Amino acid sequence: MTNTACSHIDSVGTVKLPTRRECQECIKIGATWVHLRTCQACGATLCCDSSPKRHASAHAGATTHPGIASGERGERWLYCYPDDAFAEY
Ligand SMILES: [Zn+2]
Ligand SMILES: [Zn+2]
Ligand SMILES: [Zn+2]
Repeated sequence: MTNTACSHIDSVGTVKLPTRRECQECIKIGATWVHLRTCQACGATLCCDSSPKRHASAHAGATTHPGIASGERGERWLYCYPDDAFAEY
């Protein structure tokens, strides 16, 4: 962790990663996604802001779950929506 992260990212202990490599909302409606993000509050795996539906942002706004981790293989970083904070781990 870097010391530039916010309190939400600092409070993440074990990073949650996708249990299934799919956006759980896109899969219901037959939409496609670009990259996956996993909510660090509830473990929901949703799609990134480059995806048509932007489910991860929508989830953060609707639930106030602040932090997500990249769900992509080989990427090890966390992001906090309200603080616009980013940290590698
Ligand atoms: Zn934060
Ligand atoms: Zn989605
Ligand atoms: Zn969540």
